[in-house]
Amino acid sequence: MSDVTHVVNPTTEQVIAEVAIHGVEATDDAVARARAALPGWQAIAPADRARLMRRFAAAVEEHHEELAQLETANVGKPIGESRDEVGMVAEVLYFYAGAVDKHRGATVPVAGGVDMTFNEPLGVVGAIIPWNFPVAITSWKVGPALATGNTIVVKPAEITPLTAIRLAELGLEAGLPEGVLQVVTGKGSVVGTRLAEHPDVAKVAFTGSTEVGSEVMTRASGTIKRVTLELGGKSASVVFDDADLAKAAASAPGGMFANAGQDCCARSRILVQRSVMDEFLDLLAEAVLAWTVGDPTDEANKMGPLVTAAHRGVVAGFLEEGMGAPGGPVATHTAGTVPDGPGFWFPPTVVAPADPQWRMAREEIFGPVVAVIPFDDEAEAVRLANDTPYGLSGSIWTRDGARSLRMARAIQAGNLSVNSNSSVRVQTSFGGMKQSGFGRELGLEALASYSEVKNVFVSTVD
Ligand code: NAP
Ligand code: MG
Repeated sequence: MSDVTHVVNPTTEQVIAEVAIHGVEATDDAVARARAALPGWQAIAPADRARLMRRFAAAVEEHHEELAQLETANVGKPIGESRDEVGMVAEVLYFYAGAVDKHRGATVPVAGGVDMTFNEPLGVVGAIIPWNFPVAITSWKVGPALATGNTIVVKPAEITPLTAIRLAELGLEAGLPEGVLQVVTGKGSVVGTRLAEHPDVAKVAFTGSTEVGSEVMTRASGTIKRVTLELGGKSASVVFDDADLAKAAASAPGGMFANAGQDCCARSRILVQRSVMDEFLDLLAEAVLAWTVGDPTDEANKMGPLVTAAHRGVVAGFLEEGMGAPGGPVATHTAGTVPDGPGFWFPPTVVAPADPQWRMAREEIFGPVVAVIPFDDEAEAVRLANDTPYGLSGSIWTRDGARSLRMARAIQAGNLSVNSNSSVRVQTSFGGMKQSGFGRELGLEALASYSEVKNVFVSTVD
């Protein structure tokens, strides 16, 4: 350890903690401890491993408010969102505790003997976590990794490490053996790359940008590591003329401005059937102006600041001259207001009508900016929705049941919702198509990404 990161509260711009910047040596030490912990962890009877995970979940529940306040202080997200996310962490741990003794193998009918499969643990898992949902996304990897008998080394984003550190402490206090769950703070270019390349790391579970995900995959290839990637998105909410427009508009801010739009599932494009565009935009403007921005510890506010000043600059760049529309700034239809004084504020912003070729309508902004794009018919809606290298999530708003299913099958995205903007549930699989990544987190599906099928044939021929 040679240096520290000054962790900043994006609302106050004050330093709230100093956290060690670890290097390769500390990463290797953690991997060695995780490896040494494997036999002991795997020797624990399934019901006892499940019990330890439930104790861990209960410890998270006991520290619910502390973790939520810490997440809001570090990320700037509204306290209600932090409470929901910490609640989800406990739920994830309970869910996978319940899965410990239910992730079964099979017997397979074959000639000449008995054939059976085992779901074997992989070994040491390296988890690389982004800054937008630090504690929730950590749990999505820790839960299934521990349930299937792996140990795990977590590398949080350098700027948002506080809740992951606390979570690992709670795991130890709850009785997880030493080395089973560790957090190594530091830089992605050092700790992250080492985890991706380390010969004793069996799998790297990465959530972050498509660019870094691609690099992680390349580095992991040297040791044929298992890789799962949860990457970016440019998801579309498709609003048809037969939809409940009032409901679609009222729900829209939650779908695009939750966590200040710093959400891989953000519906940063709204495709609206041309015949209802004006009516929808009026309703949308009303909902956006009611989306209050301010101190995220105040329950009355729906949006806090962006995570850093640098990130605010990136988001603003999408609206600037020559960057959004060719030759000029993009036309803002509606923009909310932000507080004065410290904090990396950015107003909820609607750009309408947006040209689907503009940079702000094509690239992931990761801020509270939405492009509203008109379409004429279902075929054009499908074409526009799929006109992106990403494929993470999206919504379909219509009262026509058959159309909702046609659209849900035609849109190339891993997670779609009809008449809703909800993408993530503990019980259901989550992950991307195309350049939004591969592998599924959450649900029972995640167990397959943390274990490997072993086939055993026993001859019964005399
Ligand atoms: P990022 O820059 O890709 O960073 C993600 C993590 O990777 C951080 O812990 C980072 O460490 C680390 N990292 C950076 N460079 C690395 C390298 N060369 N090798 C290994 N690890 C490295 O992403 P971000 O800026 O934190 O998050 C925003 C992105 O994540 C968006 O694109 C968003 O869509 C995506 N995201 C996707 C999901 C999903 O589930 N699909 C969820 C949340 C976010 P440092 O902290 O040191 O940079
Ligand atoms: Mg980054």
